[in-house]
Amino acid sequence: MTARTIFEPFRIHSVEPLRITTEAERRLALEAAGLNLFKLPARDVLVDLLTDSGTGAMSRDQWAAIQHGDESYAGSPSWSVFLEAVQELFPFKHVIPTHQGRAAERIIFSLLGGPGKVFPNNTHFDTTRANIEYTGAEAVDLVIAEGRDPAALHPFKGNMDLEALDELIAERGCESVPAVFVTITNNTGGGQPVSLENLRGVRAICDRYEVPLFLDACRFAENAWFIHEREPGYDGVAVADIVRELASLADGMTMSAKKDPLANIGGWLALNDDALADRCRNLEILTEGFPTYGGLAGRDLEAIAQGLKEAVDHDYLRYRIRSTAYLSDGLQRAGIPVLQPAGGHAVYIDARAFLPHIEPLHYPGQALAVALYLTGGIRSCEIGTVMFGRQPDGSETPAAMDLVRLAVPRRTYTQSHIDYVIEIGAEIAERSRDLRGLRITWEPQTLRHFTARFEPLRMSV
Ligand SMILES: *Cc1c(COP(=O)(O)O)cnc(C)c1O
Repeated sequence: MTARTIFEPFRIHSVEPLRITTEAERRLALEAAGLNLFKLPARDVLVDLLTDSGTGAMSRDQWAAIQHGDESYAGSPSWSVFLEAVQELFPFKHVIPTHQGRAAERIIFSLLGGPGKVFPNNTHFDTTRANIEYTGAEAVDLVIAEGRDPAALHPFKGNMDLEALDELIAERGCESVPAVFVTITNNTGGGQPVSLENLRGVRAICDRYEVPLFLDACRFAENAWFIHEREPGYDGVAVADIVRELASLADGMTMSAKKDPLANIGGWLALNDDALADRCRNLEILTEGFPTYGGLAGRDLEAIAQGLKEAVDHDYLRYRIRSTAYLSDGLQRAGIPVLQPAGGHAVYIDARAFLPHIEPLHYPGQALAVALYLTGGIRSCEIGTVMFGRQPDGSETPAAMDLVRLAVPRRTYTQSHIDYVIEIGAEIAERSRDLRGLRITWEPQTLRHFTARFEPLRMSV
């Protein structure tokens, strides 16, 4: 018997129309945006794969929960609903709501960071790294070697290099390492999961040096599903139990509710340390608000609580992880090299390998992202030399890789949207030799990928 299609475990209840554009319209929109996809009005995009953050579709039950939102300043019943839903999966003593993940990061790193401190992680997400470095501390990435090789196959490519972690703490001294972080799944490393076995190894090292362990748990449910599918002994264990086991190994967590919790905004910081939690709450009041709402409306707290229940549903997760792998398989069949294996939330095209005739300083990733939009109205995100090439001393060097990320919003697009993305990819693959590099005509001093302007290089004959 052939395997049956894993279909979307929902039907559509309310629709958002897409405005179908022509290539001529898209060309005009691109020119106005200086070939920078961040500057496109979203209504000119057909399939928006820029990010999976806050872009998912809420369920009927989440919209219903929104109506239960109670906007009392302090002690709202919506806060109790939220707290209970968080602690059901992550039984930490203290839960501190925030408007999104980076606010939780800012609070914890302002208290634990500072010059001379070092935070290890499998791979720091960019806001995590920025919040650490802002305090003068150092952020060190210690993912296993396979996690740094786009073609390497490994079931848990997000795992921490335990030997390197042990060495780092021994060398710097445990008083310089305020906490170890593990990001599940490893977003910056391609959405790759971390195994429970590896996390237990991290825990053992943290115990030996008496250093607390925190999870950056934005994609906890997708990570737990990979454990359910790939880690020996876990195929019979419920994802919610796997999540609780992950949480039991940690002393705290940071979270963005815009990812796996299926909400459009929100986040939290959770921890067991009473004294540290008091200091966190004091800081939270400065910028986020009273500790029973933390920058969120009561209705947001309700939507997150309901989203958490849906996020650990096996039928949903089977579909979610399959839908990302489906895009990855289709692009590969069309002859497009992608990062292996498919991650939980995104597919990463190796643009440098796909467009070998465009040298890195002519931005093969941006050239491909522009072609995906022009040909099919698809918005993706360059993660390569445009994003990382400009050095603090003003020079420019190629990034380690030139990738284009296609992030899949949760429950938002159907299989035919994804088939369309694969078709556009195949069309581009047929004439990939015709794609030209770009040059930057204007760029700001920092974070240039958000606002830089580009123009095509003239053919050199
Ligand atoms: C998105 C994300 C964050 C930051 O969360 P925001 O809600 O965007 O502030 C932190 N860590 C990881 C791994 C993320 O994916």
